[in-house]
Amino acid sequence: MYFDYAATTPVLEEIKDMAFDLLCKYENPSSAHLKSKGIKEEIEATRQKVAEFLNTTPEHIFFTSGATESNNTVIKGYYYKNKGIKQHHYCTSPIEHPSVLAPIMYLNRFDDFSYNYISLQNLLNPSSFEKEVLAKAPTFCSFMLANNETGTIFPIKEIASVLNKHKTYLHVDATQAIGKIKVDAQKLGIDALSFSGHKMFAPKGIGVLYLKDPNSVTPLLHGGGQEKGVRCGTENVFAILSLKIALQYFTDHIEQIETHYKRCKSYFLQLLEVNKIDYTLNEENGLPNIISIRFPMKGDAMADILNFKYGIMISVGSACSENKNEKKLSHVLKNIGLEDHEVQKTTRISFGIKTALEDIDELVNNINNVLAVYH
Ligand code: PMP
Repeated sequence: MYFDYAATTPVLEEIKDMAFDLLCKYENPSSAHLKSKGIKEEIEATRQKVAEFLNTTPEHIFFTSGATESNNTVIKGYYYKNKGIKQHHYCTSPIEHPSVLAPIMYLNRFDDFSYNYISLQNLLNPSSFEKEVLAKAPTFCSFMLANNETGTIFPIKEIASVLNKHKTYLHVDATQAIGKIKVDAQKLGIDALSFSGHKMFAPKGIGVLYLKDPNSVTPLLHGGGQEKGVRCGTENVFAILSLKIALQYFTDHIEQIETHYKRCKSYFLQLLEVNKIDYTLNEENGLPNIISIRFPMKGDAMADILNFKYGIMISVGSACSENKNEKKLSHVLKNIGLEDHEVQKTTRISFGIKTALEDIDELVNNINNVLAVYH
């Protein structure tokens, strides 16, 4: 039983049904054959679909391999584009995903680059944000729309209106928010946005980069001119066309999906109360599908027992941090102000479109069982 949809989502049934046909489209979209031209047209139709989904137009949409690549492209690409023209100062938050923080740390080796973190308190309160951010006169800012561990949603529209006044470039990592809350690139007033298809039921290996000004970055990958030169390399046709099916599904069902997530979350919390389970939420108002929660025992033990004994998958934080050799306490949870012992107790439970209320019954029963035996 799967409750780790924030890490990744299963591929939609609709995509599985089409998978064989999509994989048969092997011709290179850049070739001159008639079939290749047809595939190219389908890629462009996907671009159109992504653009509609974000309320923009297709010339602003570029396909990448995932949010990690989109984030790296815009963060490093903006630096390289303006190298020698300006001294760079980047602002970001201390709870970004490593695919935002690591490229900023990488750039920090250069003499013409510096960065600082904006306090979370000010990020959540744009009136005091302006003073803090202006003190450093940044050239570039990168803030996430919603956090992957806690689900916290940031007021990006208000942040963008402050930064727009000062002509500061704003990139937004929308990877967790996409498909959970409405994301309108124009209304948000941002310069760039990233997300990955596999967080919204498309396969892994497809990402999107929205650039208001496609010339604002130097590409990371130079080559055969695909994606108007912003991201060269033969297109991942299967994943791109699958993304179109996923986006169509989300467009057709958005209201049911939102209601479903809210129902799952409130049902889960209600069951905890009914069962008199002792718990604390790390975030009260975040994304509808993510719950960052502490029970009175170590979170990794809770997750392991649920997994090995009951076949239930939850997580203690982001899946990406599992790749690091040295297991460190989550930088996100520490930076939201939790004590070490509170971080250690945290687990992340995340719901998806196929989560049934009966699954949640089983989850809560087993959380209760684990607490009864191991607490
Ligand atoms: N940003 C956020 C907020 C994420 O949650 C993730 C994935 N956990 C990424 C970026 C990176 O996405 P990917 O691994 O698909 O490149």
